[in-house]
Amino acid sequence: MDRDSLRKDYIELVASVREYVEEQLQFGFIEAELSEPTEESPYADFDLPALATDAASCTKCPLHETRNSVVFGVGDTSADLMFIGEAPGADEDRHGEPFVGRAGQLLTQIIEAGMKLKRENVYIANVLKCRPPGNRNPESDEVETCSPYLVRQIELIQPKVIVALGSFAAQMMLGTKTGITKLRGEFHPCNVPGLRVLPHKQPPVVMPTYHPAYLLRNPNAKRDVWEDVKKVLAFLPGT
Ligand code: SF4
Repeated sequence: MDRDSLRKDYIELVASVREYVEEQLQFGFIEAELSEPTEESPYADFDLPALATDAASCTKCPLHETRNSVVFGVGDTSADLMFIGEAPGADEDRHGEPFVGRAGQLLTQIIEAGMKLKRENVYIANVLKCRPPGNRNPESDEVETCSPYLVRQIELIQPKVIVALGSFAAQMMLGTKTGITKLRGEFHPCNVPGLRVLPHKQPPVVMPTYHPAYLLRNPNAKRDVWEDVKKVLAFLPGT
């Protein structure tokens, strides 16, 4: 396929994604599917610095016993685009910053070399703020206990798009048990119980895609991730 055809396909893809999501927003489908709050968030009145301070001394789940750092989040606190991963790994636990190890370097490449954005202009966080020992999967009670921090982060940042990296983040954002392979590649309404959205704002849409750690093991899947982030770029204004 020549360069002009590729460019034409890309422009058509951009137009069709934008049209689809704008339709969803215009007719209120996305808003209508937001879950009702189950109970008042303990952090409903917290701003980001207060939330980070609270998390820094959190002992609400057993992960506090083995962590070195609480990895709260990093980036532009008014970003339109937010990346959410699963949990800190060893490098993140050491440095106190999400996505700084090998998988993090790949995420930075996707953001900077692929999407032509600056890492510091997006916001990056995880579902869990503390590292599960040995990088094991998060337990459901750990996710439940820690998730109010992330929910409040999303409320305060109010991104337009959340890229959910891997099954845990995608399943939490969408309130589903479906695996990442089936979820990725399409925008979904955000379905986080209790997430509040300012009256003049639309709730974020979620693009699930593979976690960068998975891409390190399966480089062929990078092509799928590139297709997913192209849709995100098409949707975001000014990119
Ligand atoms: S993982 Fe979350 S809930 Fe558990 S101790 Fe860390 S900050 Fe607290």
